[in-house]
This record gives sequence, structure tokens and C-alpha cells, in this order.
Amino acid sequence: MSNPGVERYIAAANETAARRKADWDEMKKCKFDTCAVHGLYTMNEALNSNQGSIIEPTYMSTSQTYRDSDEMEAALSYQIPTWCYARIANPTLYYFENTMALLETYGSDIEATCVGTSSGMSAIMAATDSFLSVDPENPDAPRNFVTTCQVYGGTFQQFNIRRKEEQGIDCRWVVNSNDMDEWASKIDENTRFVYGEMPSNPGLAFFDLKKVIEIAHSKGVPVIIDNTVGTPALIRPLVLGADVVIQSVTKTLTSSGLGICGAVIARKNITSNFGSDMMKADYAMYLKALPNRDWGQNLSPMNAMMSLTDMRTLRTKVDLFSRNTEQVAEFLEGHSGVESVSYLGLKSHPLHELASEYMYLVDSEFDAQYGKKINRYGHLLSFNVAGGVANARKVFDGLQRVWRATDLGRVKSVATIPAISTHSQQGDEGREMANIPGNMIRLCVGGEHPDDIIRDLDQALSLVDGEISYKAPSEFSYGGASDSTMARK
Ligand SMILES: *Cc1c(COP(=O)(O)O)cnc(C)c1O
Repeated sequence: MSNPGVERYIAAANETAARRKADWDEMKKCKFDTCAVHGLYTMNEALNSNQGSIIEPTYMSTSQTYRDSDEMEAALSYQIPTWCYARIANPTLYYFENTMALLETYGSDIEATCVGTSSGMSAIMAATDSFLSVDPENPDAPRNFVTTCQVYGGTFQQFNIRRKEEQGIDCRWVVNSNDMDEWASKIDENTRFVYGEMPSNPGLAFFDLKKVIEIAHSKGVPVIIDNTVGTPALIRPLVLGADVVIQSVTKTLTSSGLGICGAVIARKNITSNFGSDMMKADYAMYLKALPNRDWGQNLSPMNAMMSLTDMRTLRTKVDLFSRNTEQVAEFLEGHSGVESVSYLGLKSHPLHELASEYMYLVDSEFDAQYGKKINRYGHLLSFNVAGGVANARKVFDGLQRVWRATDLGRVKSVATIPAISTHSQQGDEGREMANIPGNMIRLCVGGEHPDDIIRDLDQALSLVDGEISYKAPSEFSYGGASDSTMARK
């Protein structure tokens, strides 16, 4: 029995939906920078709902009140736009999520939606989990997924330990991601999704995405891409045919480094042999309304707001960081203390040509400075220090401007030794498979003037012939805030 009170709210909601669709269509006429700056926060929205505030409001409230029981019923059955409770949705997240969806679909008429998550790892967890559920029609069927082995260390652990060891789901590593036969041979009727990271962190592996999508889709398997390192300013996997994109928004998208944040962005009507029609029709909204509601890995509105603020200048920042990184990479390549440099922007990189087919600075052809399509390769590079692990540690320890931190995507340059940090947990074997030697330093160049970063690297590289100095514990003490000594037990 339909309830006329509820129906009245649904009719009003349809008007809102139509207005939002019009806002989306209007934004689709704008360039990338305009989408990044405004998203779906319109003047109309500001004047009618937000006291005219020109900046999106940050709603810290845990929940929303309703006019009456009819509105509550319509809202809690997801028949009207609502945010009800901040574990499920929130108006600030709405602006953040729509900006993400606009940027990841830029330059196409693909319809996509986004759900914000508490971190990049929870985005990966959310994006993959629903594909890995037990099939109710065939509960004993084996389940597998196929993924590049060159992935972020946390992703490697999530797949290898949580999924494979703890849940018994077969994780099939693709060792050479440019061998299309390897992809094809590992995908079968029990494959729930194909996963890739390109460029990969830290190895900068890069594969021919369009070909992999073709193979996966020919077998009815969806493709999930981690676009953290590329960012939508350089590459937009959804536009190339991928079904789902995940972002560690924590990184380049929030380059100021003020908060952990993730996102799942999915096209509507994804390809998948597995899953309900409802799940496939609008995957990100499905995740938001159902599984994420129940698992609870939502994003805090404060973090959404800080990310949104950073994202407005994404394109120009990625351009600046990329240009700086190119200069630093060229310097390192010419230095005798460096065994090798891996940066997709260097002509010496074996994947330079392939990457050049994919990685363009969005809208450079409309930029007065460039006036044509130009390649940019992001701000992640890695280099191997000549002479092995001890020398790499001396160089790393000698850095005075570049921060030693397991982080990337910052406006400040940061470096790490992946083998002892981001990629320590996967062990020698896992690192060998992913080609991460102990003398590799990962460097993410930020917005400083590149001359100053080069000067710092130059003095650090000059230290390799010196003695290793061990600092006495009396010179420092630890603060009281650390809670991660568990691993030492
Ligand atoms: C950091 C990172 C993640 C994980 O993101 P968090 O926000 O730290 O949870 C996933 N993928 C890539 C490529 C990353 O660099």
C-alpha cells in the first residue's frame, strides 16, 4: 500500500534529483579546473540551503532530523535524497564525492558516482569486497581475483594475507603486467575482478590498460584500477573503460597532507558476471547505501572538506610537481652515485613510450602556456643507490630538506626506503617479485624549487664514502603518542 504522505516527499525528491542532474550537466560543459573548483556546489545551493556561504559547508552533525514520520520512512528506505546518519552519508561528503566523480569522468559523458571512505585501504576493501562474496546460488564455488603484483605494500598485504590466507580467496598475481597472455591465462569463470595499479607505487610499473580491459570484459570480469599515483589530472581509467577506480585521496589529491581519505568511483552499469542487478547498476551508491553502511568505513566530513579544498588546484599542482620531478630525475640519472633511476618521464625508462600514450596533463591544449596536448608523468620516482643497501641508507640519512617519511603525494618532498617501510611486510620474496631492492629510495618531489631539492640530493649522495654514524640514544627521546610497538613483540 502506498502512503500518500510518503509519495508527496518522493515527488519533491524527484524535483531535487532533476535539479541535481541539471547541475551535473551544466558542470559537464566546464573545463577540468572549473569542475575541481566548483563541483556540484552551485550558487543556487548556497543561497537556498547554506546561508550564501561561497565555500561548501562542513556539517559535523552526526544526524539529520525529519519533518514527520512520512519523510523519515521515505528517507530511511532511500527513496528521497537524505543523509540521515553520518555513517551513511553527509552533505559535505556529497560535495566531495561529486567533485571526485566529475574529475574521474572528465572529458567523457560517462555517468559515474563516488563514495568517500575513511582511507585508501578501506576504499580498496570496499571496492573489492562485494565482488568476493559467496555466491548464494553456488556457495561452494571457488573464488579468485587477478591482480598486478606491483601494488602498494598495504594492498599487497590486504590481498595476500587478509584475502588469500585468512579468507581462502585465491589471489592470482600477474608478474609481468605487459604480458597479455599472462592476464588471459589467469582469468577464468571464477574470477570476480581484475585489479591493477598504474603507475605502481613505488616501482612505476605501467601496463597497457585498454588491452587488459578488453581481455577482462570479453570474459565478463570487471576492472578495478588504483589511480592514486596518476590522479585524474593525468589519467582517467573510467574514461578508458575501467569499471571502478579507487583513490587514496590522502596522497596527491590532498597534497597538503592533512588527513587520511579514500574514494571509490564507479561507472554506472558495470560489467560483471557476478552480483545483483542493483549492485551493477550503480556500484558506488550500492556500496554507500548498503555494505559501507554495515561495515562502517565512512569518511569524516572534516577530512572530506580538507581534501576538497586541496583538490581545487589539482591540475596546476600536478603539472608543477611533474615538471620538478622531471628535473630531479634527470639530475639523478646523470649522477655517478646512482645505479639507476626509474621515472616514466625519462626516455631511458622501458615503459616511457607506453606511458606517453596514456599520461597527458588534462586540458593542456586549452592552456595558454602550452596550447597543445603535453605529457606529464607525476611526481613519484625511485632510484637505486650505487654500492648497495648501506650506501642507500647513508644517502637517505643524509637528506636535510627532503623529509624521511612513508608518505607520498605531498607539496613537500618526501623520501622513503620501501624495503624497510611501505613494502617491508611483504618479505624478500614478495619484494623480489615486485622488483623492490633494498637499495631503492622512493622519492616524491613536491612544490619546492627543484634546484633546492637537487642540492639536497647532491650533498646526500656525496656522503656515501663517509663513515656510518650511529646516534647515541641519549641524543633523543620518544614522545608518548606512539602506539605501534606491537610489531616488535
Ligand atoms: C597510500 C596508498 C594506498 C592506501 O591509501 P591510505 O589512504 O594510506 O589508506 C593505496 N594505494 C596507493 C597507490 C597508495 O599510495
